[in-house]
Amino acid sequence: MFSYTFATQNFKLPPPNIIADLEFIAAQAEEKAEENDHFLRSLRNLDAAELDATAHVVNDEVSAAIDCTECGNCCNKLVINVTQTEVTGLAGTLGISEQKARELYIEESMGGNCFVNTIPCHFLSDKKCTIYAGRFSECRDFPHLHKPGFKARLAGTLNYYGTCPIIYNVVEVMKRKVGFIDP
Ligand code: SF4
Ligand code: SF4
Repeated sequence: MFSYTFATQNFKLPPPNIIADLEFIAAQAEEKAEENDHFLRSLRNLDAAELDATAHVVNDEVSAAIDCTECGNCCNKLVINVTQTEVTGLAGTLGISEQKARELYIEESMGGNCFVNTIPCHFLSDKKCTIYAGRFSECRDFPHLHKPGFKARLAGTLNYYGTCPIIYNVVEVMKRKVGFIDP
């Protein structure tokens, strides 16, 4: 395990150095807005591939320690884009016609982009996804920290720093890993 410790708060999930308290991270997003902006700019001259390698290890550690079924905050807050193929899959998962699935659960933009028509998502129940095996690729991929491009995507990632405990913890560890703040 990485040696990441916070001296503060309200730890809900093991290991005890991971913070998953949603109220706390929402407050931190406001408190650390300026610091996060400086962190983003501090990465400008760092090697993107090295940052990705570090971020992937950190993300693996953090993701393994956070139970998304005890959170569900992304399902509460995000617009979920859905491909046409996934609409067909959703109909199959629910055992209804594609037309009915569209009518009940999907909105389509003028440009033909589909998305789940409610926030929180229809399929969230008691912090758990009721179509988990058939959930959409956007749900599977969020918060995208397993992908290449940590540096390029950090500005977008920080938009959800106060929403997603995985992002919050990964960003805080990365600040220490790159020497932006002291361990
Ligand atoms: S489909 Fe499931 S995982 Fe995706 S947003 Fe809805 S509840 Fe969350
Ligand atoms: S991806 Fe983030 S916001 Fe979504 S359930 Fe997991 S920890 Fe919570």
